[in-house]
This record gives sequence, structure tokens and C-alpha cells, in this order.
Amino acid sequence: MMVRVASWRYDNDLPCGEEANLAKYLAAEAAFDCTDRAMQTHGGFGYAKEYDVERYWREARLMKIAPVSQEMVLNFVSTKVLGLPRSY
Ligand SMILES: Cc1cc2nc3c(=O)[nH]c(=O)nc-3n(C[C@H](O)[C@H](O)[C@H](O)COP(=O)(O)OP(=O)(O)OC[C@H]3O[C@@H](n4cnc5c(N)ncnc54)[C@H](O)[C@@H]3O)c2cc1C
Repeated sequence: MMVRVASWRYDNDLPCGEEANLAKYLAAEAAFDCTDRAMQTHGGFGYAKEYDVERYWREARLMKIAPVSQEMVLNFVSTKVLGLPRSY
């Protein structure tokens, strides 16, 4: 839902920094939870490189680091949305 809100705002030339950051954060968390659950379900075969689950897990994990880390999303929200002082 957040991805759709952010995309809609972007497509309609509306400011979308807040929504895009929140969408990225939530989608990264959801993707990782999903693939981590898949790995747990498949056990050792999930971890083995020969099967695709490991790659999905690794690629979903990347989204918590790049293109911007989850911590930097929280920094954005705290300063730009909540108006808190910059913490670094
Ligand atoms: C596979 C891959 C592909 C990439 N492709 C591209 C690309 O095509 N173009 C491009 O420009 N970049 C690319 N990157 C770089 C990517 O944007 C950075 O890895 C990402 O922004 C994180 O920066 P960093 O690796 O320097 O980590 P750092 O900034 O060193 O962060 C390390 C840790 O410290 C935390 N941290 C850092 N600063 C703060 C802070 N102020 N407050 C709280 N926590 C903080 C981070 O959240 C993280 O947990 C890619 C990276 C990877 C791994």
C-alpha cells in the first residue's frame, strides 16, 4: 500500500520523499521477512547455493543496505518528517 501511495504521488508530480522512504523501509523489511521464512521452511536446502531460496534471501537482505540503509531512512524520517534534530 505504501509503495502504491509513493508511486502515485511520484506519477502525479507531488512531493513523495516521505512516502518513498517509508515504502522502501517497509518493503525491504517485508521482503526480508518473507525470504527468511522461506529459508527456514526449506532448512538446509534453503541455505544451499544450488537452490534459488538462498539467492532470494541474499538479494532481499541487500535492500536493507542499499540503495540507502534502513538507518538512513529512519534518519530521513526523524529530521525531515518529524522535525527532530539531526543525530549525526
Ligand atoms: C550490491 C550493491 C550494489 C550497489 N549499487 C550501487 C549503484 O549502482 N550506485 C550507487 O551509487 N551505489 C551503489 N551501491 C552502494 C550503496 O548505495 C551503499 O552500499 C549504501 O548506500 C550503504 O552505504 P555504505 O555501503 O557506504 O554503508 P555505510 O554508510 O558505511 O553504512 C554502514 C552501516 O552504518 C550505518 N550508518 C551509516 N551512517 C549512519 C548514520 N548517520 N546513522 C545511523 N546509521 C548509520 C548504516 O545504516 C549501515 O548499517 C551498491 C551497494 C551494493 C552492496
